[in-house]
Amino acid sequence: KAYGVNELRKMFLDFFESKGHLVMKSFSLVPKNDKSLLLINAGMAPLKPYFTGQEVPPKTRVATCQKCIRTGDIENVGKTARHGTFFEMLGNFSFGDYFKTEAIRWSWEFLTEVVGLDPDRLYPSVYLDDDEAFEIWEKEIGIAPERIFRFGKEDNFWEHGAGPCGPCSEIYYDRGEKYGCGSPDCTVGCECDRYMEVWNNVFTQFENDGNGNYEELENKNIDTGMGLERLAVVVQEVDSIFDVDTIKAIRDKICELAGATYGADEKNDISIRVITDHIRSASFMISDGVMPSNEGRGYVLRRLIRRAARHGRMLGLKDLFLAGLSKTVIAESKDGYPELKEKEEFIYKVLTKEEEQFNRTIDQGLQILAEMEEDMEKKGKKQLEGKDAFKLYDTYGFPLDLTKEILEEKGVSVDEDGFQEAMEQQRKQARAARETTNYMGASATVYEQLDPSMTSEFVGYDTLTCESEI
Ligand code: ATP
Ligand code: MG
Ligand code: MG
Ligand code: MG
Repeated sequence: KAYGVNELRKMFLDFFESKGHLVMKSFSLVPKNDKSLLLINAGMAPLKPYFTGQEVPPKTRVATCQKCIRTGDIENVGKTARHGTFFEMLGNFSFGDYFKTEAIRWSWEFLTEVVGLDPDRLYPSVYLDDDEAFEIWEKEIGIAPERIFRFGKEDNFWEHGAGPCGPCSEIYYDRGEKYGCGSPDCTVGCECDRYMEVWNNVFTQFENDGNGNYEELENKNIDTGMGLERLAVVVQEVDSIFDVDTIKAIRDKICELAGATYGADEKNDISIRVITDHIRSASFMISDGVMPSNEGRGYVLRRLIRRAARHGRMLGLKDLFLAGLSKTVIAESKDGYPELKEKEEFIYKVLTKEEEQFNRTIDQGLQILAEMEEDMEKKGKKQLEGKDAFKLYDTYGFPLDLTKEILEEKGVSVDEDGFQEAMEQQRKQARAARETTNYMGASATVYEQLDPSMTSEFVGYDTLTCESEI
């Protein structure tokens, strides 16, 4: 049966509740008391204090469905079937309670018995020398040894900055030859989308002090993460995360607004997928109190909104469309995340303000950039000067990576050092003049006019004070 995304979320949490886990609601995307992280990127991230023993968990077994942002995956978005900058991570956690045997057994039970995936299409992997995990897969679960893969540190050792870490066991699903890259070497672990990684079981045994020193943890822990969207892809047997029920609704809305047909043109499809992903990220970030700015997570948000706006332009969308689109995001996800509904009006206002600001200058900026390109072509240059990229940033509000992305499509690069120099230069001048308005084509006060009381519980401002921690 092709379960929906919202159904699968519940099935996962109910299953682990039946295994003695306390179900906790998703934490905010904005980390608390964690300077090592700009935005929550995994289910375990907000639970770090429980793993390190800094805080006592409410129960030694916990399960969550955690909102995540991975800006590092932005270049993959729209191009692979499995990456979003926003996604939901399902996870079960053990704080010094059960370890490898139960974790593996339950992940298998959930995938094959609860959800009903074909066991012959599933392939586990373990860390190189993790014979313990290998044996559990082979002896207890009954997987033929040639179907169990051993991978190195890059894939099968989990760590994100300082904190708890350890070897992992990932579970891949073979989606069939039609999704393969065609290479004769294509097998589990290939970067293409045939063998899709759905679940990562981390056996947290160590603590990384941030300087690469690993200490064995007194209590060994379990931290698992499964992308809800990816689970839905394999359960619903669809092409990509942009085809699962809740996300497809957003995609369809864009097509309706732009009068586009999904699947008719690959370049348009990429734009449609980029917007679909970015509007999810932006809506969720704003609901957690992040505001567009030029620093830290506010800048992540600004880049996502502006990139979505530019891809909208590419689809021929001239009017403001992001707030309207956000409505679909909220409708699809409000059951799992009531904060979206609570902050609905606020989300629309922030999106509209930012899109308006950018709309005022985007056409002019694109025009100027086209002129710069022409000029470079005449001179036979393949790199945009830093000062030109800075002009686009400063006067027309083009984040550097947006300029880079536009030029990349034409095989042109940007002098990034030159850009930083120009930026530094301007900072010095601004400091001298004590003049701080009009960055990125948005006056500093524009968001101050928004009334935070229009949300029932606004926690944004106290989380906005530590923006410079990148
Ligand atoms: P990949 O190798 O496919 O990039 P990963 O190994 O980086 O995935 P993990 O860090 O192991 O991913 O995260 C745990 C799970 O979260 C993954 O197994 C996957 O299901 C999901 N996941 C990770 N990154 C993304 C993403 N960008 N979009 C959607 N789901 C993701
Ligand atoms: Mg990855
Ligand atoms: Mg991986
Ligand atoms: Mg992984």
